[in-house]
Amino acid sequence: MKMSFELNNLVRENIKVLKPYSSARSEFSGVANIFLDANENSFGSPLTKWYNRYPDPLQWELKKKIGSVKKIDAENMLLGNGSDECIDLLIRTFCNPQRDNIIICPPTYGMYEVYAHINDVPVKEVPLTTAYQLNLEALEEAVDANTKLIFFCSPNNPTGNSLDREAIEMVLNNFDGLVVVDEAYINYSRQRSFVADLKEYPNLVVMQTFSKAWGLAALRLGMIFASTEIVDVLNKIKPPYNINQATQELALKALDHLEDVNAMIKETVKEREILVKDLTAVSFVQKIYPSDANFVLVKMDNATAVYTYLKEQGIIVRNRSNVLLCEDSLRITVGTPEQNEQLVEALKNYQRK
Ligand SMILES: *Cc1c(COP(=O)(O)O)cnc(C)c1O
Repeated sequence: MKMSFELNNLVRENIKVLKPYSSARSEFSGVANIFLDANENSFGSPLTKWYNRYPDPLQWELKKKIGSVKKIDAENMLLGNGSDECIDLLIRTFCNPQRDNIIICPPTYGMYEVYAHINDVPVKEVPLTTAYQLNLEALEEAVDANTKLIFFCSPNNPTGNSLDREAIEMVLNNFDGLVVVDEAYINYSRQRSFVADLKEYPNLVVMQTFSKAWGLAALRLGMIFASTEIVDVLNKIKPPYNINQATQELALKALDHLEDVNAMIKETVKEREILVKDLTAVSFVQKIYPSDANFVLVKMDNATAVYTYLKEQGIIVRNRSNVLLCEDSLRITVGTPEQNEQLVEALKNYQRK
């Protein structure tokens, strides 16, 4: 296939002609004393006085600060109410229901498929190899004229490994739809982020999140990094005030504590290595897959029985036994040192039973 990328050919016709909602906050930007344009409550809430105004629809202050950390312009960024919203926006912008399709590479994150199904968009599955890497031949075979998006997750959930960079680049160079690289776990990996490659690949979309390394899953803040052309069209269809004021304020604060976040990432990686070592000593553990993330996938004898036992001990892990290529495997999130110790202790007690 010869690369002939043209964003205009990918955007759905109804989105191309859409006249976006123009909110009060986006029609007037400037300095004024009295705002009577948005039907807000000028008295303010009795609970807290300053949440009575609608937030910045395009979150410029926050994006600029994220941009200075990630070395990318605010114009190349779209923020979503979690990566969830980012995935949904991508599918709704580019995929005509029933006609266009997306490609995913299982075992992988479940939300790509769920949002495709919600939007009535067919999903083509191209499983990873047994080494949990991309099957390039099968990918090439699966792509058809209606394939708009290919989702890669690297480091991948639930397997934990990073996908080979060269394989992703191969697809970027040969596929004329969009390649979405979900980097939710990139901070735990030694791999270089694809954010630095956005200028090189007009068809690249990178996703990251505040839910993992930043420790702010409850805020629901996901990020898309892409060309300004892609960001502009996504901005047309996003809900006007999709990132609430409290989230914008707290994320700005978190960005002032970069060193603490980096220390926490280092500690998580250190704990991951300790956990891997401790799990190696558990007799019924068969295999611990190498992880570039804040979790490990562990294959063991009778994983479902172990899962049930752990649950009875008040320890909840993720049973992935029913997932393709993850037979008899549990996905275990790296916890605090105390939590990890309790987990290993419980597993050793199970061994003695
Ligand atoms: C956890 C996770 C996310 C984060 O989703 P949010 O909606 O931002 O919390 C995204 N992608 C993958 C693969 C994940 O595992």
